[in-house]
Amino acid sequence: MNSLKDVDVSNKRVLVRVDFNVPTDKKGDIIDDTRIRESLPTLRYLLEQGARVIAVSHLGRPKGKPTEEFRMDKVAVRLSQLLGKPVRKVSECIGPQVTQAIDQMNPGEIIVLENVRFYPGEEANDPEFSKELAGLADIFVNDAFGAAHRAHASISGVAEFLPTYAGFLLAKEVKMLSRVMDVAESPRMAIMGGAKVTDKLALLKNLIKKMDIIILGGGMANTFMGASGLSVGKSLHEEAMFGMARELIESVRGAQKKLLLPVDVVVADHFANDAKHKVVSVNEVPDDWMIVDIGPKTVELYRQAINEARTIFWNGPVGVFEFENFSAGTDEVARAVASSQAVSVVGGGDSLAAIYHLGIQDSITHISTGGGATLEFLEGKALPGLMCCNYNRKMVV
Ligand code: ADP
Ligand code: MG
Repeated sequence: MNSLKDVDVSNKRVLVRVDFNVPTDKKGDIIDDTRIRESLPTLRYLLEQGARVIAVSHLGRPKGKPTEEFRMDKVAVRLSQLLGKPVRKVSECIGPQVTQAIDQMNPGEIIVLENVRFYPGEEANDPEFSKELAGLADIFVNDAFGAAHRAHASISGVAEFLPTYAGFLLAKEVKMLSRVMDVAESPRMAIMGGAKVTDKLALLKNLIKKMDIIILGGGMANTFMGASGLSVGKSLHEEAMFGMARELIESVRGAQKKLLLPVDVVVADHFANDAKHKVVSVNEVPDDWMIVDIGPKTVELYRQAINEARTIFWNGPVGVFEFENFSAGTDEVARAVASSQAVSVVGGGDSLAAIYHLGIQDSITHISTGGGATLEFLEGKALPGLMCCNYNRKMVV
């Protein structure tokens, strides 16, 4: 992949696609600035090298037209605080106001463009819009891993018109995710949870191919238990996926791999934190109760397996972890992953929330910030944001 380190950026105008799509509250105030922080290594490097940095991102879903609550002003203010230097914000992405602002820049200065999704050409990947954006700069750096699965103008469109390089965050994500999938040490384990099999079928199939041990929890496991002939009562499950689940169980067996399913579960009499609940064996789930977490014996079983793994990928909580009474299984799995000696990679919004809630993020080898992009990368899809940096899966180690 084209690396930022391979090009002389001093004095150059560098357009950087960052992922500043931070969560905001109703007033538009930033709730969590992780994504801005993640972009700092690339931005600092460019500024230190004397580039003139033009940062561009989307924020929220303004659907192709200017929307007050999605303006980038507050992001620019936060970025300025984090960088410890002035950040100029312009209220457009293209046009004379923008080119004028860029002409006034000195090497080592940075401006932030307006929300790029204010322009319909962005999501439509309109070549005219891409060309105008590209016209602002000499070099394009893509560092928005979280948006790399989108073939949008500011992600892959501009790359048609400018020499394109991968930023440090993008390169780090690719390196760590490739490592866990393609060059990882055995035994390799995937822990998959979350709500539905359908959401993650492509990922699950690919993980079964690549990993030695698959551990299942959450609604995903309910479907596999149902497919194995167990009664899952009122639990979230997908009967339409039973056939597929059976095929997957067979393919794991055929490949001499291991698939671990819960042996006991926490069941609740309705879907609420204060619901009546108890631990039962998986063949004793009452007809009108629902599975909301894995049970203590399963936690022990999974903990042991996790301890023996050398590589772990985890995506998806193993229970309804948003309810405190049913978060024990997910918390224990998270702690086991954090305390294992394995190379550990965690992806997915809810899985990250569980990790941060416990404050154990520093004990995970790599926390993938990509969301949808992370899952699509691990499914083996070609992501537009990587292809334009000359990414070749076989070459990355
Ligand atoms: P991630 O965001 O980490 O990719 P998902 O979005 O796939 O994870 O899944 C998280 C959701 O799965 C959570 O909202 C959680 O409550 C739900 N979930 C997990 N186990 C169950 C279960 N047994 N029954 C219903 N929902 C569940
Ligand atoms: Mg989620």
